[in-house]
Amino acid sequence: MPRALITGITGQDGYYLSEYLLSQGYDVYGLIRGQANPKRAAIERTLPDVRIVDGDLLDQASLINVVQKVQPDEVYNLAAISFVMLSWNQPELTGEITGLGALRMLEAIRLGGGASASRSASGQGIKFYQASSSEMFGKVRETPQNEQTPFHPRSPYGVAKTYAHYITVNYRESYNLFACGGILFNHESPRRGPEFVTRKITIGAARIKLGLQKELLVGNLEPSRDWGYAGDYVRAMHLMLQQPEPDDYVIGTGETHQAKECARIAFEHVGLNYEDHVRSDPQFMRPAEVDLLIADASKARKKLGWEPTVTFEQLIRMMVESDLAAESRLQAAPA
Ligand code: NDP
Ligand code: GDP
Repeated sequence: MPRALITGITGQDGYYLSEYLLSQGYDVYGLIRGQANPKRAAIERTLPDVRIVDGDLLDQASLINVVQKVQPDEVYNLAAISFVMLSWNQPELTGEITGLGALRMLEAIRLGGGASASRSASGQGIKFYQASSSEMFGKVRETPQNEQTPFHPRSPYGVAKTYAHYITVNYRESYNLFACGGILFNHESPRRGPEFVTRKITIGAARIKLGLQKELLVGNLEPSRDWGYAGDYVRAMHLMLQQPEPDDYVIGTGETHQAKECARIAFEHVGLNYEDHVRSDPQFMRPAEVDLLIADASKARKKLGWEPTVTFEQLIRMMVESDLAAESRLQAAPA
């Protein structure tokens, strides 16, 4: 049975990737950090077949120990400070976790995995997936963005991801590791963190519809993103590690939408006009903005046979429905 180790198991992608790999017959190990991490119980409940291991991307020894203990065939490094806005408030920690964290995981594979870490003649060894990001394109040099597009990150998060991406490429070239960078564009789901704009809007629309709040404060809704469904994107992560050679791939839908389109669809879904409820507030404006991202994922389509299955509109409606149900359950629950 193949064995996968996932960092960032408590996050959105960790959930979908675990579910997917379990369905493919994998033994899945999930790295959880911290003493009494409150998300541990949720993982035990929602993903009972995942085996939890303790470790932290800030702690090199813990990662070496985990790799030695689990002896994984595949490592998916999804852990990060992933919220762009937070990265301006905690730039150093973002660099440590989102940037150097990838290096520590690669070192754990190189050192902790022993001889099996590098590819043998038969192409075996520990395979590594790095969760790279379209935020690396930032102030875009060309549109749409593909694997050859130069990077110009616009936030400490984007800079840290760019380091993590290049160190992944460097370890592939230096040590012959099977290491891939998945340059994923924004992907969302009902499990997306509530701080991200799509989920913030779908929760807001649901709560306003249910009479639980009156307005929603946001930042600049003009920027455009290539938004897809997280469930589709984890398949791409897995596919990358099943190829004969390691490589980097852009993953996205090839469509772009302004954040205000998300608001329009979400509020229309509950019979409301977003312009009556959504207000702009300077506290959510960013020191530097990424105005437009759109993926050219033709390499992934051709080489991986990967296609997205959920449209932007379906995605936003799915998230609103889920938030309506969750908020209604919360109201119905005894205090
Ligand atoms: P989430 O923010 O939902 O999850 C981040 C995960 O990282 C959490 O499980 C968190 O654990 C974990 N983590 C944070 N710090 C540490 C640490 N020091 N040691 C170990 N684990 C840690 O992210 P997503 O699931 O949305 O994204 C997965 C990855 O893909 C991230 O690296 C993200 O930057 C990247 N990405 C995401 C995109 C998206 O649109 N979703 C687009 C492109 C890239 P805890 O619960 O303990 O905080
Ligand atoms: P990002 O692309 O990883 O930064 O994902 P986000 O969902 O955090 O932000 C997407 C876009 O929405 C960015 O251009 C933000 O500036 C914009 N945005 C506008 N208002 C908000 C808000 O209230 N919260 C967040 N998170 N983003 C907002």
